Amino acid sequence: MENNNNNSESINFIRNIIEDDLNSNKYQRNIHTRFPPEPNGCLHIGHAKSICLNFGIAEQYENATCNLRFDDTNPVKEDTQFVNAIQEDIKWLGFDWGDKIHYTSDYYEKLYNYAICLIKKGKAFVCDLNQEEMREYRGTLTTPGKDSPFKTRSVEENIALFADMRSGKFNDGDKVLRAKIDMTSDNIHMRDPVIYRILKANHHRTGSEWVIYPMYDFAHCISDAIENITHSICTLEFEIHRPLYDWILNELELENQILPQQIEFARLNLTNTVMSKRKLLKLVEENHVDSWDDPRMPTISGMRRRGYTPNAIKSFCEQIGVTKYNSLTDFALLEHCLRNDLNTQAQRKIGVLNPLKVVIDNYDEDKTEEMQAVNNPAVEDSGTRPIVFSKVIYIEKTDFMEDAPRKFFRLSQGREVRLKYAYLATCTNIIKNEEGEVVEVHCEIDPNSRGGKAPDGRKVKGTIHWISEKSAICANIHQYDRLFNSPEPENCEEGKSFIDDLNKDSLTILKNCLIEPSILEMKKEEAFQLERTGYFCIDRKSKKDNVILNRTVAMRDSWGKK
Ligand code: ATP
Ligand code: MG
Repeated sequence: MENNNNNSESINFIRNIIEDDLNSNKYQRNIHTRFPPEPNGCLHIGHAKSICLNFGIAEQYENATCNLRFDDTNPVKEDTQFVNAIQEDIKWLGFDWGDKIHYTSDYYEKLYNYAICLIKKGKAFVCDLNQEEMREYRGTLTTPGKDSPFKTRSVEENIALFADMRSGKFNDGDKVLRAKIDMTSDNIHMRDPVIYRILKANHHRTGSEWVIYPMYDFAHCISDAIENITHSICTLEFEIHRPLYDWILNELELENQILPQQIEFARLNLTNTVMSKRKLLKLVEENHVDSWDDPRMPTISGMRRRGYTPNAIKSFCEQIGVTKYNSLTDFALLEHCLRNDLNTQAQRKIGVLNPLKVVIDNYDEDKTEEMQAVNNPAVEDSGTRPIVFSKVIYIEKTDFMEDAPRKFFRLSQGREVRLKYAYLATCTNIIKNEEGEVVEVHCEIDPNSRGGKAPDGRKVKGTIHWISEKSAICANIHQYDRLFNSPEPENCEEGKSFIDDLNKDSLTILKNCLIEPSILEMKKEEAFQLERTGYFCIDRKSKKDNVILNRTVAMRDSWGKK
């Protein structure tokens, strides 16, 4: 990550903890973090926060490393497709796990043996209560739970039953393995939590080898310990699981090890979108969006497809910081970071979204001239590229107005405007269709103003862009807007779901837009600026005979300001 070292912005409470631990040499080993996605969906911008934090720490401290660990303990929802997509997204963000890629499923045998350790210590038992009974026994937040009648099973019986669970003797849900902790604990997670369940499902990596699967709380802390993690960073909702995390590791008496510490931070919430993978999956499955990488999705792949840059996302993650307090971040901040990055990086191009025909009456039909357009005014020596000028050009409909007010500094009858990089042009006539709509504008250029400079120094305030009929390429432009209408779609009225809050105008397709030909040489998904209009990129599905541009972001934030 850029600007991490000695940068006051990057100081956060987690880095403070790490620095204290380094100073006291608490771990007597190198700092080691991990990013532990469950491969049950694609990564979203919230995951990016966690990635920047975990991999950022590894980059910041000497000899520190960050593992990529797939937390794959729920075979029903997980898939190799997501394992691959997640790796691609992290790489695209610019982080590298080297050879530190792990899967919880690689530890199944070890985890099984650790469960046996607990049983042998009298700290785990096989329980036959069904889900409903278990709920009754668990008690509530205000009332204590009571012991399962199976809690008194002998160690030998538990070992035998657990082996039978593994060998497939029982059906799903018949039995579970539970930790023996305290049914009267104030913390419900400590009331003899389930640590293994029977699930006869095919796993994307282990196939049918296993019919029992460890629960997250059991697998996660042990995986951290196996990997020598020092700081196990997770989101706030796991704070209440921390006593269980510590209990399991302490009971297992892992050798020569200073145990990893779990540290919680507030997850990222963004306005006008949803972030839970379950909800994102619903959007995909019910075809409210095209796919996980639909440019409207808050997924990293969707953002990439829309023309976002890794730097914009990283700089956003820096700016939001890392705290212990849940809050809601305005989507506009992400777009602000994006514009900041694109403003200096993006090539300038010309395109006309709603074309209006302009005929230059005093220009030869057969003549063409090459004008020089600046590639990027924000970068010195970015060079120029030729753009073709000819008798018939197109301008934006909004750049012409009949009966314009005095302050309309664009084209109108009798007024003069600068055609950027070309000539000064004065509107001499207009042609309307039967509905009274202006369909053609006639102009005369000042032949001595080539390049756009008035020969006599007269002031021409307005400058508009244009594209020649002779060079223009036709494109369809997908304009995206917020996916949901309200800032917190998940906080909807009773009886409604976040689906009801979908913005039906989140995608508008503009057909027959005209763009300059050099755009076709751009790499797909690399954003450029259409001058005066916004940032765009070529969609990954675009073809020569069906050019599709995605609007990455408008020039200015306009949400809610219509
Ligand atoms: P979801 O609820 O969307 O399924 P999850 O937390 O279950 O999310 P994981 O794949 O388990 O998804 O997440 C991997 C890591 O990313 C975890 O450490 C998790 O804490 C972190 N993470 C997930 N969502 C966010 C978020 N919105 N902000 C910051 N970190 C997040
Ligand atoms: Mg999770």
